[in-house]
Amino acid sequence: MAQLSDDCFDEGGRLITTAEALGILADRITPVAETESAGLRDAVGRILAEDITAPFHVPPYDNSAVDGYAVYFDDLHGEMVTELPVGGRAAAGHPLGRKVERGEAIRIFTGAPMPDGPDTVMMQEDCREAGGIVAIPPGIQRGANRRSAGEDVTQGSTVLHKGMRLRPQDIGLAASVGRTELDLYTPLNVTLFSTGDEIREPGTELPEGCIFDSNRFSTIAALGQLGCRVTDLGILPDDQEAIGKALDAGAAEHDLVVTSGGMSVGEEDHVRDAVEARGSIHFWRLAIKPGRPVALGQIGVDGRTVPFVGLPGNPVAAIVTFLLVARPLILRLGGASRLVPLVYRVRADFAHKKKKDRREFIRARLTTGADGIPLAQKYGGSGAGVLSSLVGADGLVELPEDMTKLESGAMVDFLPFSEVLA
Ligand code: AMP
Ligand code: MG
Repeated sequence: MAQLSDDCFDEGGRLITTAEALGILADRITPVAETESAGLRDAVGRILAEDITAPFHVPPYDNSAVDGYAVYFDDLHGEMVTELPVGGRAAAGHPLGRKVERGEAIRIFTGAPMPDGPDTVMMQEDCREAGGIVAIPPGIQRGANRRSAGEDVTQGSTVLHKGMRLRPQDIGLAASVGRTELDLYTPLNVTLFSTGDEIREPGTELPEGCIFDSNRFSTIAALGQLGCRVTDLGILPDDQEAIGKALDAGAAEHDLVVTSGGMSVGEEDHVRDAVEARGSIHFWRLAIKPGRPVALGQIGVDGRTVPFVGLPGNPVAAIVTFLLVARPLILRLGGASRLVPLVYRVRADFAHKKKKDRREFIRARLTTGADGIPLAQKYGGSGAGVLSSLVGADGLVELPEDMTKLESGAMVDFLPFSEVLA
C-alpha cells in the first residue's frame, strides 16, 4: 500500500514552486510495490517492474538484409563484371545447410541466414541472372547487405528497464528476446469526487446558477490514460461532514484520493479542512497561473496513509494542476522512473508581461515558422475557467518564475498535450 513519510513539516499556506512541489513528491511518496504478471498483449501503457535482459543475440544469426546473391567478396573482380554459377538457395526460415564453395553464388532472400562462407550480399536489382549464371557488377564493399548476429541486441544486455512505461516498440523488443509475460506494477486504485453546491451531473436538469461537472470527466479520462482503475464517487455538496465521510470511504479502499473544487480560502471551501481533520496537507498553494489552489496531502486510515490531491475547481486550472502535481504523483506511486514530460523549445510569436515569482502556462497553438522552427501563438482566452481554449490549443508555453517580460521572437519552453494527455 502507498505510504507517505510522516515527518512532514507543515508547508502551511506558503506559495511553493513547481520544482519544490516535485521535490516534496519525491520525498514523501513511496511507490505502491505490488506487482503482477501480465501477457504482452495487456502491457502497453503499463509500468515495468523488472529489468529485462536478452538471453541471446537478436538477431540470433547473421542474415541477409536484401534479396540477392550471397558471395565471397574475394571472388569478385575489382573493376569488371564477375560471372558466378548460382549453386543454391537460402530463404528466410530455410537455411542453405551446407558450406559454400569458393567461386559459387547463392540465391538469398531477406532474413535468410548467411550461408557458411560468403561474407557479402549483392542486391538482385544490381545483378543479372541467366541460365544459372549471375553477372555481378564491380563496386560493392566487403560485407555489404549482411546483418550481423546481435546487431539489434547483444546477449546479456539489459533491453528494458524497471520503471519504464511500456510503448508498442518496448513490447516488440520484449517479444524479440523471447518474453511472453512481464512483471508489471499493479494498476493504482484511484477514487475521485467533485465538490460544489452548483455542480450538476451532465444529463440531469440544470437549475439556474448551476453548471455541469466537467472536471470529474476530464480527470477520469486523464487517470485512465495513466493506467489507473477509477472509482467515481460523484458530486458532493459544499459540506465538510459529507466531504469528510467520502474522504474516509475513499481512502479506505484506494491508493489515492483526488478531489475537485473547494480548495481555496472561501467560506464554502471545505475540502482542505476536511483533509486536515484526518491527515495533513503538504502544500496547497503553488506559485503558478492558472491553478494556484492545488493541494498535496495525506489521509490517515486504518493505520496507514493515503495520498490526496485536491484539484482546483476552475476547469483549466484543474487540468494544468493535474499535469503538474497529480500526474507525477501517480507515475511515482505507480512505479515509474520518469516523472516529468519532455518539454520542447519553440519560438514565441507573441509578447507577454507577467508577474515575477510565479510560473505561467499559456495556451498556445503551434505553426512552423519560415526558418522551420515551431512558432507558438497564444490561443483562446486566458481565464482559468475557459476550457474551450484548451481544446483548441496544442499545448502550453511555460514561462519561468523569474521572467517578467517575454519578447516576441524569444525561445520558450513548450509542453505539448501529446506528451501528457494522450
Ligand atoms: P472552487 O475551486 O470550488 O472555488 O471553484 C472555482 C470555479 O470552478 C467555480 O466557478 C466553480 O463553479 C467551478 N467548478 C468547480 N468545480 C467544477 C467542476 N467539477 N466542473 C466545472 N466547473 C467547476
Ligand atoms: Mg466550489
